[in-house]
Amino acid sequence: MKPIKISRSKIELFLDCPRCFWLEVKKKIKRPEKFTATHLGNKYDPFLKKVFDEYRRQNKKPKELEEFDFELYKDYQKLEIWRKKGVEYFHPKHKIIYYGEIDDLLIKENKYLIPFDFKTTLSKEFQVYESYKRQLEIYGYLLKKQGEEVLNLGVFYVVRVDINENFEKIEERKIVILENLNYEIYDEVLEKLKETYFSLQEPEPSENCPFCLRDFQIKNLYKNE
Ligand code: SF4
Repeated sequence: MKPIKISRSKIELFLDCPRCFWLEVKKKIKRPEKFTATHLGNKYDPFLKKVFDEYRRQNKKPKELEEFDFELYKDYQKLEIWRKKGVEYFHPKHKIIYYGEIDDLLIKENKYLIPFDFKTTLSKEFQVYESYKRQLEIYGYLLKKQGEEVLNLGVFYVVRVDINENFEKIEERKIVILENLNYEIYDEVLEKLKETYFSLQEPEPSENCPFCLRDFQIKNLYKNE
């Protein structure tokens, strides 16, 4: 029997709400649309990958990275596998393949890997949500499980897209560095995720989420009639 595959975004879904995870991954009942993020990144990410790959091909450093002591990861073939198939980790006890499809990767001193992700935003200020930090942490965790040495540092390449008062499109690009990434917690996270996945009982809903609350209110309405 083929092992189950669980992606980085489903690990994030589990961390956000175990019930939504259980319903979506196990019962194929998708989350309400309201939750789905806008996909500006879908448009920009392939373009940015090409831009950075060209630097890679020419063995040059992009100007945004010049001031830092890390480089673009050199092994293009390995990177392409990690982009398309994901960085995979087969958990021997869970019999589950956990994986995350990375955008790109940096390297320091030809040895230490640094998770690197592209973010596109329409907002004036780029906000680093907890989920963004977890995204880099999960990539780092999966890379460590491959036997790689990974710094507890992650990098975002942020593209801000806007329109100025003359209705001209503007683009700003910058590097945002996240320090103190914690890869240690994910063994335990995956342990809990696995228990939830194999549980026959659906987990409790989150108290603050309006969707399940609304369902319960509707059910109670008929119960009390
Ligand atoms: S509480 Fe919200 S997030 Fe959790 S299962 Fe219900 S809809 Fe999903």
